[in-house]
Amino acid sequence: MSWQNHNLSKVIEQISAGVAVTLTDGTIEYINPCLRRLLGLSATQLPDGGLGPFRPPADAAVGERIRQRLLAGESWQGETRWRTAQGELRDVLESIHPLHDAAGTLTHFIHFLQDISALKRAETLSNLAFYDSLTGLLNRNLFNDRLARACALAQRNGGGFAVLLIDIDHFKRVNDTLGHDAGDELLRQVGVRLRRSLRKIDTVARLGGDEFAAILENVVDARVAAKMVEKLLAACSGLYELAGSSPRVSLSVGISLYPQDADIPESRGLLKRADRAMYRAKAAGRNGYFVRKPRT
Ligand code: GH3
Ligand code: MG
Repeated sequence: MSWQNHNLSKVIEQISAGVAVTLTDGTIEYINPCLRRLLGLSATQLPDGGLGPFRPPADAAVGERIRQRLLAGESWQGETRWRTAQGELRDVLESIHPLHDAAGTLTHFIHFLQDISALKRAETLSNLAFYDSLTGLLNRNLFNDRLARACALAQRNGGGFAVLLIDIDHFKRVNDTLGHDAGDELLRQVGVRLRRSLRKIDTVARLGGDEFAAILENVVDARVAAKMVEKLLAACSGLYELAGSSPRVSLSVGISLYPQDADIPESRGLLKRADRAMYRAKAAGRNGYFVRKPRT
């Protein structure tokens, strides 16, 4: 039997994708069984407020803009979130396409809704695997990956870069005097200042606790790295607003350089030497930096 012999309405009833048809003012004319299941609707219920831009959006102006685009004959696609009658949250990918009659007049919209909750959950998990949930910066896993990549690229192109290990001075005091939540807030704020004080091409990560790390791309000279770190210290040290208090915060930084400090595996040598240099900065009185002890 050829596919043309199938009744398309029956096909839409059976497929495992949410389909709806609305008039151009958003009035719902048809909802298929899959969409009823997806949104947790009974046989007679309609989606609260409609579909797509006809559902009350958080920002009414955005809804109006999308409506105008649809009425002009354009398609729209976006991610939305629904709560089913059973109280479950669903992430949904909605797309809306205009339907024209034989004379070319826009008569209906056809809506496709796809449940992407499982995809979203997987995305959240992979974010947890690569990003620090407190600061939103890269975590140690992704930093190590970037470091290995920077080594490979610099080796191929004959370039160089600097690695920074950055630790907050006397961070425990903030936790002890202002509380753990204020400590968390300080970590977040330090993360923001670090990110702002470096260039877009540089990598910034939180390795754990009060320890951060960075890769400064295309830096081959220790003096250039030192200048950049002086700027970083000026931007990130000083007063912070925390829990109604304004503690003065400083950082200690250790610097290592590729290729001078790299060995096999390259990234381990770079981090180890940056770490040693950071401890020398601590020992020298904190609130400063140290360039790695050259390889012997
Ligand atoms: P130093 O100047 O030698 O670096 O001293 P410090 O007090 O900063 O000591 P250190 O860097 O060893 O302390 C890190 C502390 O950070 C230890 C731990 O209690 C605290 N910490 C680790 N992770 C977190 C976190 O996620 N949130 C908060 N608030 N504290 C954390
Ligand atoms: Mg510390």
